[in-house]
This record gives sequence, C-alpha cells and structure tokens, in this order.
Amino acid sequence: MQVEKAARESEAEAIRKILGQDSSRKKREDKIKKRQEELATGNQLRSIEKAANAMIITSNSVRWVMGPSGTFVIFPNEMGLPSIFDPKPCSYPPPREKCARASCTNPYKYRDSKSKLPLCSLQCYKAIHEQRQPVTAC
Ligand SMILES: [Zn+2]
Repeated sequence: MQVEKAARESEAEAIRKILGQDSSRKKREDKIKKRQEELATGNQLRSIEKAANAMIITSNSVRWVMGPSGTFVIFPNEMGLPSIFDPKPCSYPPPREKCARASCTNPYKYRDSKSKLPLCSLQCYKAIHEQRQPVTAC
C-alpha cells in the first residue's frame, strides 16, 4: 500500500513538473516570439526610413511613395517643384489681351473689324495684313 502510494505521489509530482516546465517554456517561447516580432517591425520601419532617405538623397526623378502615414510625392532638389506649386499672385482683372502682331508686346487698343484681331496701332494692323495676305507678284 505504502509503496503504491509513494509511487503515485512521485508520478503526480513528475506530471506537475512536466506541466510546470511546459507552461514556463511556452511562456518563454511567447516572450521570444513577441520580441522577435517587435524587432522585425522595428527593423522594417528603420529600413523604410533608410530607403526613403536614400531616395531623397540619390533620386533624380519624381517618386510616389505610399506609406502607412500617407502618400508622399518626392521631387528631387535639382528639378524643384513643378510650376503648378508656385504661388501665383491672384490678378484681377485678368491681364489685357496683347496686340496680335507676334513681334509686338503692346496691349491692344483697337480690334480689327474683319479679322477680330486685337491691335495696338495702324502699323501692326498693316503688318498683320501683309502677313496674312502676301502680295502676289504680277
Ligand atoms: Zn502692336
């Protein structure tokens, strides 16, 4: 009886030990796993940052980067921002139409009743009509 009881107790203890070891091992594994995951995400973030920095420094073309915190369009310094980003002063009223003669930069004063072209002077009127209707010889 006594021997049997002792055997049972030792068995139970062994089971408890195994179970205890198991659970503690599992806990440790979980911890390691978690740490590895944390490291992985950290590395990932760092590598993304590195890549972005490298792109900014070395790239000479426009980059479209979609990240977790938003979408970035990166323009290289040599190229600068496209003109659509330039601040433009709001001009009102709109700039006056210029003389239709290509070489003339004056704002128009008259409008040709026939061609509806804007003109600044009689000289420009004549110049334009000479261009449009070249004098034919003979
Ligand atoms: Zn003109």
